[in-house]
Amino acid sequence: MLICEEKSEAWSQFLEYAEERCSATAFENWLAPIRVVEESDEGLILEVPNIFVKEYLLENYLKDLSAFLPLRSDGQLAVEFVIAAPKKEEKSTAIEDLSLVKTATPEVNLKLNRNYIFDNFIEGPSNQFVKSAAIGIASHPSRTYNPLFIHGKVGLGKTHLLHAIGHAIGQSHKNLRIQCITTEAFINDLVDSLRNKSVAQMKKFYRHLDVLLVDDIQFLQNRLNFEEEFCNMFEALINQNKQIVITCDKPPSLLKLSERMVARMEWGLVAQLTPPDLETRVAILQHKAETRGLSMPQETAFYIAERISQNVRQLEGAVNKLTAYCHILDTSLTEDLVIEVLGEMLKHAPTKRISIDAIFKAVAQVFQVRVSDLKTNSRTKEVVIPRQTAMYLAKELVNDSLTTIGSAFGKTHSTILHACKNIESKIKKDPLLARQIDLARKGLDEYC
Ligand code: ADP
Ligand code: MG
Repeated sequence: MLICEEKSEAWSQFLEYAEERCSATAFENWLAPIRVVEESDEGLILEVPNIFVKEYLLENYLKDLSAFLPLRSDGQLAVEFVIAAPKKEEKSTAIEDLSLVKTATPEVNLKLNRNYIFDNFIEGPSNQFVKSAAIGIASHPSRTYNPLFIHGKVGLGKTHLLHAIGHAIGQSHKNLRIQCITTEAFINDLVDSLRNKSVAQMKKFYRHLDVLLVDDIQFLQNRLNFEEEFCNMFEALINQNKQIVITCDKPPSLLKLSERMVARMEWGLVAQLTPPDLETRVAILQHKAETRGLSMPQETAFYIAERISQNVRQLEGAVNKLTAYCHILDTSLTEDLVIEVLGEMLKHAPTKRISIDAIFKAVAQVFQVRVSDLKTNSRTKEVVIPRQTAMYLAKELVNDSLTTIGSAFGKTHSTILHACKNIESKIKKDPLLARQIDLARKGLDEYC
């Protein structure tokens, strides 16, 4: 299908108008892909990637379209729609548009998911710190933390933040050479260049970067030769004060990598993403629903968020499934529909909430102190470590903000953070403490 070379004035004006009135994601997902195929006295022919985009446009903008686009004598829009032939590797719906955008930076072809930007990343207590650090790096590459090491379980937004840093630096520092790569792709690159005898060229390429974003470094484990090559490149970049950001499914200390490599990862800031609390999950669901043009009542969002708690990707999958059903069945979202469509996904009962009280009891039991000791200000050694352990476990297991956790101890959130850091570093050197903490964790079931 040929696309109009000359942009339709009327359509451009409508786009300008709509862009100011919807979120950037909604615009990118729904409106930007529409093309004017023909403009004549009879009206416009618009090409849409799929039927959902047409429905979205008519449902949300019919009145506005009538103001901008030509009308027939009966007052109806003089617009026809045609569906674009699917492109080979493209998904057939705009619901999950994960296509990659290429941002031109000098000599580097940066591939980033266009939806993974800071604006689309919903903040809550579980990710606020990491997001701020990421924004800090994006605004001042190489001037804040280097490297930034982001770790957390699968589906919590590591790749999203990594790409968001890439987008933001690409926009604000246009002359910097940025590369965003998965560890697997790095290894493949290296294998290819070994085969083609172009290792020197590859090394030169990486060592001339200004910003290196590396996803899923855990795949470097057990790849001895590659690890060494990576470590050399890492050092070369850091020594030239080039920014590095790394993501991983575990903290550096748990990686089966050489001491040298682990130490390098810990040079800068190590920051953890944890599963979002209930309110944040609800906000994520509602944001994702909104960008897909799905109206999701608050109770429905709570119903789903109470049952999917550990993985944002699953929340997103739920919204995608519901959006598709609502469009196909032309119906609005009800709790019955949620149960019918998401049945399997929701089979887990709401996760048992671990309370701070349960943690107090389990820790007191393991360390043989009184629960009241854990809440006092006593600074004796016998009490300080158990109290800090309780804070550490509360941060890990209780789905509340640090401020709320702090108030259960009569402390501020920064005391909790300090305690957690202290325990984290002690665990590494003190196997007995690590075992005690494990026992307390296991003992929790008894008190929940
Ligand atoms: P990870 O790399 O940690 O496995 P991803 O970055 O791939 O996770 O995130 C999984 C999905 O969840 C992505 O589509 C991402 O956009 C989304 N996501 C994760 N966290 C958030 C958040 N806080 N706000 C909005 N979307 C999120
Ligand atoms: Mg990832």
